[in-house]
Amino acid sequence: MPADSSPGPAGEPPARGAVRDRRSAAARQSRASVTSAVEVRRSARRSRTVSAYREGDRTIVLIPARMSEADEQRWVGVMLDKLAAQESRRVIGDGALAERAERLSVQYLDGRARPASVRWVTNQNTRWGSCTPAEGSIRLSHRLQGMPEYVVDYVLLHELAHLLVPGHGPRFWRLLESYPRTERARGYLEGIVAADRLPGLPAAREV
Ligand SMILES: [Zn+2]
Repeated sequence: MPADSSPGPAGEPPARGAVRDRRSAAARQSRASVTSAVEVRRSARRSRTVSAYREGDRTIVLIPARMSEADEQRWVGVMLDKLAAQESRRVIGDGALAERAERLSVQYLDGRARPASVRWVTNQNTRWGSCTPAEGSIRLSHRLQGMPEYVVDYVLLHELAHLLVPGHGPRFWRLLESYPRTERARGYLEGIVAADRLPGLPAAREV
């Protein structure tokens, strides 16, 4: 299924918020180009819509012929994110995520954390996960999709633990002690954040 989007009248992509978001989009882009090339096709027939789809191991992004280079770059990032989010949702849906949360709660928290809802969200770019204890709701950033299972499990367990203990005091971390990969998962996530900020990463795309 292709991802489609319409820029606003000024050709702006949807609000992306802070500078940090753009940088991480570029970094994700560079990771994507390791496994698949991105081909941008300009079409005179297109006046406003941007769409993208996979063709074998390549990703085709269709843009209006008159789009500026800067907009093209931004849109490629936006569309790669969209495709990745769509594909990962297909791999593990919200239902499977809720089952996983239940399993983790039983295994590491004596089943005491019982979330009312667990779901992926795409509007959370500065935090990996969040929860609202009053509602028992847990949200995981779609940026975790495609990361190793033990990392997703760690973030899920972290949010489950917040249903029992708010904040990051000693009581909170004691809850996570029994999960054997806490340190490793935290290191992985720190590495992702650091990579976004490091200069001198290889060229973002082969377009
Ligand atoms: Zn936390």
